[in-house]
Amino acid sequence: MFIAYRYKLNPSQNQAEKMNNWLSMLRANYNFNLRDRIEAFEQVSKPLLGNYSRLEHKGECCPLTCSVSKNATLGSPWKNNGKKRNAYEQQSSNLLILKKERPWYRNIHSTVLQQNLKRLHKAFDNFFEGRGYPKFKNRSKFRSFSYPPGQVKITEKAVYLPSIGWCRYFNSRVIPQGFKVKTVTVRHKADGWYISLRLEDKSVPNIPKIEMSSVRNAIAGDLGLNKLISLSDGEIIANPKFFRQAERRKEIRTKRASRKRKGSKNRAKAYQYLAKIDNKVLNQRQDYHWKIAQALCKKAEILIFENLNIKGLLKKCQPKQDEEGRYLKNGRNAKRALSRLIADAAWGELKLKIKSVAEKLGLYFVEVDPKNSSRQCHKCGYIDKENRKKERFFCLNCNHLEDSDIQASKNILLRGLKQLGLDLNQLPSVRRKVTALEISSTLVDEPSNPSKVKQLELFDSSLWSVSPVIG
Ligand SMILES: [Zn+2]
Repeated sequence: MFIAYRYKLNPSQNQAEKMNNWLSMLRANYNFNLRDRIEAFEQVSKPLLGNYSRLEHKGECCPLTCSVSKNATLGSPWKNNGKKRNAYEQQSSNLLILKKERPWYRNIHSTVLQQNLKRLHKAFDNFFEGRGYPKFKNRSKFRSFSYPPGQVKITEKAVYLPSIGWCRYFNSRVIPQGFKVKTVTVRHKADGWYISLRLEDKSVPNIPKIEMSSVRNAIAGDLGLNKLISLSDGEIIANPKFFRQAERRKEIRTKRASRKRKGSKNRAKAYQYLAKIDNKVLNQRQDYHWKIAQALCKKAEILIFENLNIKGLLKKCQPKQDEEGRYLKNGRNAKRALSRLIADAAWGELKLKIKSVAEKLGLYFVEVDPKNSSRQCHKCGYIDKENRKKERFFCLNCNHLEDSDIQASKNILLRGLKQLGLDLNQLPSVRRKVTALEISSTLVDEPSNPSKVKQLELFDSSLWSVSPVIG
């Protein structure tokens, strides 16, 4: 089983300087090798100079006597035994020449240089599997380097990083017995240096899923902004909006930083402070999300969430024009505020965390299609836009009245259970809270003759103000 632990480092000034130096050198090397691979790749995919030529000498060569490497133009494409090298191996064979030509690269531990090339190789592998073209890295995007397994030693008080030396760290959690240190990544953040350890114990098997027969409880959550999660058992998890809390302070500090003289130390300090605000928001959010994940996984064996297209929600509004080409209002300002709130809630990250905790415990994590989940009545299955009025849900077919988010989460629960092939009768503790009438028959088909009863005004909206339970 693999686990990952993170510790804060406490390096000496010399060590920190050295690591910073490494980062800038590694970044230059990464970008240099990336350009090399891009050129080789483009030369093969859309040849600039004919099929059998190389960009370096711009001459055509005969395919019978000269081979063109698809991988890279640096390094030797052949192994000693006559077999072909892959792109990583080819670029890695160039490291010796690099160290000869630029002796300062000898300061970096050789395995770190190799890992850096592997990182590039991984980026291209991702691209070949359809996940975006590798990008050149600027200073803010390149903040880590890593050691392969078997290089780093760790004791209670210090960690040994080859070529950097023994470095003290804050031992915030004990490594469980039997786990061995695998890959180690050193990362520079706004508030200092960190190491992430990948730990493995082969004797511990991955946890199998809990058997369906022993499942007692299932829970579903509807993700929102005013209430972060509304659970199908009626509980509500508040959304503290961490970014909004820090927004005003950040605004003031950004203005202050931008007034400082360019290139001055004070300007650098001011921007460092800004980065720390962002870092704090991130930490607060992550901490809150992990706590939610732990709390939910204690509640039930099956966790069901909606499968939201968050990227689509965050998209900018398209510009609108009238016939004469003038720009019309497209509601972008209002949308921007909403987008910020959605980004601040970080539903995707939250779901990932819940999923990871659930998998560690062997629980079921299910995602379902959220279509019409807030418009459909979970009792009778009737779908109507008019059913929902903001926080209040009132079914025009069966007069069912409930908080609209909790109502939606019950829909999600029913859909998730259906996906797993479960029945509410199998889960008595859930049935007490979600009493759906003939789910299987009515969930799909709309009832034929809905008698629309307009009784919405009869209910007092103050009934529907909800107080947060967690947080
Ligand atoms: Zn109904």
